[in-house]
Amino acid sequence: GLYNYYCIANNVNILGKFHGIMKESMCKTLSSKYNSTLRKIIRKYTRDKIFRVEYEDSKGKVHKREFYHDGFKRKKDARIDDAHIEPSYRAMQPTSLMARLKAGKCEYCGAEENLKMVHVRKLKDLEGKQPWEKFMIARKRKTMAVCECCYRKIHAH
Ligand SMILES: [Zn+2]
Repeated sequence: GLYNYYCIANNVNILGKFHGIMKESMCKTLSSKYNSTLRKIIRKYTRDKIFRVEYEDSKGKVHKREFYHDGFKRKKDARIDDAHIEPSYRAMQPTSLMARLKAGKCEYCGAEENLKMVHVRKLKDLEGKQPWEKFMIARKRKTMAVCECCYRKIHAH
């Protein structure tokens, strides 16, 4: 989206630097999330020099997402009315958390009430004794949107 927006600019190639930062940040996030190293994560997900992640949907169909890899060449003949479309940030918020927050549903019990956020600093801080801890550990989540009632139950421990 950003590239689409800026592709007619003389210096659009500087987006390459941004691309590098985003990629490094993503790999670092994955390596900490999966308790791995940067090198192992890059090796695991890179095929033919393309970083890609495969995942199964709820119907068992395998999908593939590739990290953008087509460069940032200036497009002189890009149509100005295309370039006027604002960059889209939608693809950057794919988490179910966003969807749940929008739907106003408690992630733990599904109640539709005012939500509060439960945060833990590190997944390692969860002891896994309580059902809600197991819930978060299983989903590798450090943040959860819950209803008032669940929030109180969680903070009673
Ligand atoms: Zn709840």
